[in-house]
Amino acid sequence: MSTYSQLPVTFVRGEGVWLWDKHGERYLDALSGIAVCGLGHCHPRVVEAISRQAGTLIHTSNLYHIDRQEHLATRITELSGMKNAFFCNSGAEANESAIKLARLFGHNKGIDLPTIIVMDNSFHGRTMATLTASGNRKVQAGFEPLLKGFVRVPYNNIEAVRQVALNNENVVAVLVEPFQGEGGVNIPQAHYLQELRKICDQYDWLLMLDEVQSGIGRSGKWFAFQHSDITPDVMTLAKGLGSGVAIGACLANGIAAETFKPGNHASTFGGNPLACAAALETLAVLQEEGVIDHAEQLGEFIRDRLKSQLSDVEGVVQIRGQGLITGIELSIPCGVLVKKALEKKLLINVTSDKVVRLLPALIMQQDEATQVVDVTCQLIKEFLNSQSED
Ligand SMILES: *Cc1c(COP(=O)(O)O)cnc(C)c1O
Repeated sequence: MSTYSQLPVTFVRGEGVWLWDKHGERYLDALSGIAVCGLGHCHPRVVEAISRQAGTLIHTSNLYHIDRQEHLATRITELSGMKNAFFCNSGAEANESAIKLARLFGHNKGIDLPTIIVMDNSFHGRTMATLTASGNRKVQAGFEPLLKGFVRVPYNNIEAVRQVALNNENVVAVLVEPFQGEGGVNIPQAHYLQELRKICDQYDWLLMLDEVQSGIGRSGKWFAFQHSDITPDVMTLAKGLGSGVAIGACLANGIAAETFKPGNHASTFGGNPLACAAALETLAVLQEEGVIDHAEQLGEFIRDRLKSQLSDVEGVVQIRGQGLITGIELSIPCGVLVKKALEKKLLINVTSDKVVRLLPALIMQQDEATQVVDVTCQLIKEFLNSQSED
């Protein structure tokens, strides 16, 4: 079905930060399959782990214990300080799990209409519950009736959350992204998550972090909440977890870790040996090769270099980011830059109409990042110049 308006290119091979199209042309990838291929394309250790697992056991269902899945749960809970994990196949499904968990948590407390606080400009997925939770009319339009049980507040605004607390006794949870990726690379003020943590503790709500984009090293730490010295009650993961093999996870702590009982939630494919082998190897490489510290430093390098070339350019509103997500906000819609970059054999993205988004592989080297920045800056300047002439 024509759910995407696709760019005119077909990639047939990838290696590290490079992709080749079917005519043999090489492209520099600063998008990584939308924050998925953190180790670059076809990392040899991930390829080897997937191949080995595919030749051993691919799927059995969760009616039986799955060794690889239990290993993966142990690794992620060790890294995050969470207690239990549920595995599924995508970010939307991980968030769907979190939403169900919050509702059950509410019902267990005697709240019949459990309500979740969600944010303006958020993105949580395309299933009915997750598109209802998303703060983007374009994602929702045409799919009404939406679900009940959500109340929306501005992002990065603690006072608005406090106001809801005073007026709504049905709130059971806050669902929030530590930074908003799809919503325009919005980084909240330093103490935002800490303040949310305090309010959730005060009112006995679950703090649920959607780390589908920010998790697995993208923020320059394993999980973006680790910049804030808090622990959430629920955290969702997907994108970077399996290096491109479909896997999602919903992690939980404390009472939230014990909320689901047998029969409450399930997934046929979720946490199968193949997906878990891909994720386990991804985590092992990230750790053993010091990739996440490198990502944090490379992100600073990219933003410094962007600022030195773009700060004085009229039409560039702000350059911002965390770890290896970077947004360049322009004063006018700039979706056309994606195609212009493609013509220069560079893959970038524009989100929220006006924000150029860079999501390179966490293993990108400095000379490649220099190339990404210099081509992007040249394209932005040419674009803004041509617009001001019209
Ligand atoms: C991409 C994304 C999702 C949806 O993930 P899918 O795997 O496409 O379902 C949810 N939340 C955030 C923050 C995302 O970036």
